[in-house]
Amino acid sequence: WSSSNFPWEKKLEENNKKVFGNHSFRPNQREVINATMSGYDVFVLMPTGGGKSLTYQLPALICPGITLVISPLVSLIQDQIMHLLQQANIPAAYLSANMDWSEQQEILRELCSDYCRYKLLYVTPEKVAKSDALLRNLESLNARGMLARIVIDEAHCVSQWGHDFRPDYKELGILKKKFEKTPVLALTATATASVKEDVVQALGLVNCIIFRQSFNRPNLWYAVIPKTKKCLDDIDTFIKENHFDECGIIYCLSRNDCEKVAEKLQEQCGHKAAFYHGNMEATQRAFVQRQWSKDEVNIICATVAFGMGINKPDVRFVIHHSLPKSIEGYHQECGRAGRDGARSSCVLYYSYSDYIRVKHMLVQGQGEQSSWTSGYNRGNTANSDGIFEKNTENLLEQVSYCENNVDCRRFLQLVHFGEKFDSGNCRKTCDNCAKMKTLVEKDVTVIAKQLVELVKMTGQKYSSSHILEVYRGSMSQVVKKHRHESVSLHGAGKHLAKEEASRILRHLVIKDYLTEEVKKSDVYGSVSSVLKVNASKTSDLYSGKQILLRFISPAKASKVSKSDA
Ligand code: ADP
Repeated sequence: WSSSNFPWEKKLEENNKKVFGNHSFRPNQREVINATMSGYDVFVLMPTGGGKSLTYQLPALICPGITLVISPLVSLIQDQIMHLLQQANIPAAYLSANMDWSEQQEILRELCSDYCRYKLLYVTPEKVAKSDALLRNLESLNARGMLARIVIDEAHCVSQWGHDFRPDYKELGILKKKFEKTPVLALTATATASVKEDVVQALGLVNCIIFRQSFNRPNLWYAVIPKTKKCLDDIDTFIKENHFDECGIIYCLSRNDCEKVAEKLQEQCGHKAAFYHGNMEATQRAFVQRQWSKDEVNIICATVAFGMGINKPDVRFVIHHSLPKSIEGYHQECGRAGRDGARSSCVLYYSYSDYIRVKHMLVQGQGEQSSWTSGYNRGNTANSDGIFEKNTENLLEQVSYCENNVDCRRFLQLVHFGEKFDSGNCRKTCDNCAKMKTLVEKDVTVIAKQLVELVKMTGQKYSSSHILEVYRGSMSQVVKKHRHESVSLHGAGKHLAKEEASRILRHLVIKDYLTEEVKKSDVYGSVSSVLKVNASKTSDLYSGKQILLRFISPAKASKVSKSDA
């Protein structure tokens, strides 16, 4: 597809330079354009900032007819249309459910006219799902041979397995059924193999050509930092020391957290910070977004509702104040930093207790409505279609990523997208690679069995921190109150450092030998959890399965080079 023998080659080159002002094509742009202009269905995985828009805007300009673009957010659409007009003088229109009826009619009338001036028509997915008038107009365009191409932007939203499923996207399969011969171009910056399969199938793409690029973002620096009670002070110091007065996003778990973090950074630390979440009025959200675009505020404390459509090129840091819900989502959120290619930081403040909080939200379906996927919102009722289980699995993978203090962060993320990455190429641009470390592999099977036994012995009624206390021989009042000092495994792990014992216990949770059962405490309304044994899985431990874990050798661990980190 990279050949320059296609009949449109000259026009492509000319328009790319003259209209879009680009000197050349970026990786895969030319190939995608050639494939879609040859009439194939095409699926494109290109990292954020890779230049996906050009792959349909340039064909739209040089092909006769109209390109239909389905895009999830009106703000994103407005932004694109403004750019098209101002920078390239390409007329484009959009239709969305909250536009005036008369305005919509005018656009639909123009579409039917033989002299339609629009080259692109943007619509939100619910418009396709719910507007018969639009479908009728598209049929008429198609009958006249004027429906040039259908573009599905942010195509991963089609998949229930992805991190950003939107039910209206599921309805888009209708397009290929109605317009069999029209080429479809599906674009996304994030998709695992299973999400990709799901999207291709749901959209009904035929003999689809797939282009994918490395998801590695060499200019991003990754770190996971233990989250303590003074996390906000740590964040303040981190920003002042590394990104003073620069632009960044702080992702928080709840609306309340967003407001609290923004207030502290603004009032006590002197940053220009604002908050953004799904519970705000649309006008309020738009106002914050405008302030941010104009650099009137430089830190946004947001739920993941602040995401798609953030095209700011100079975001210098993305901080996660809490645990993200999947590696896919995490990668995408981090991807909003450094779109201009300059070095930027992605720092995640991690505590195991956030896992309990997120899991509780998942179980209760009390997540942020507009940003937590429908799987989260449906909570327990989702059992029947496996989405709840998938969300739990995604969350545990994210915990595993955070608990891992030895492997390259890039490697851990990329492997998730089915990509091989030699961690030698990380060049100390993640916290784990920056450590001067010697690793030792330990067989922890005996300890693992003892911990599982201890959970059973104490009746599967206690939290992981309590189990660890008993295992390490604590004589605290709580331990005595439950008479756990007399359990046979009390103190069996007294030779282990707290860190080591807790890492092994968490490994058992990540690998599903033990499950955290979360519940809301009646007295304070706070979330607590108890460990349960997963009997079907733990039988492995008794049939010779070994558990090996790698640890940083203590002698070297303390010698982390400050300049490297
Ligand atoms: P994506 O949608 O993949 O995140 P965009 O389409 O928004 O990326 O493009 C990101 C930026 O790269 C935009 O500012 C765009 O103008 C620029 N860009 C795209 N293609 C090229 C190119 N071939 N040469 C130079 N800049 C480009």
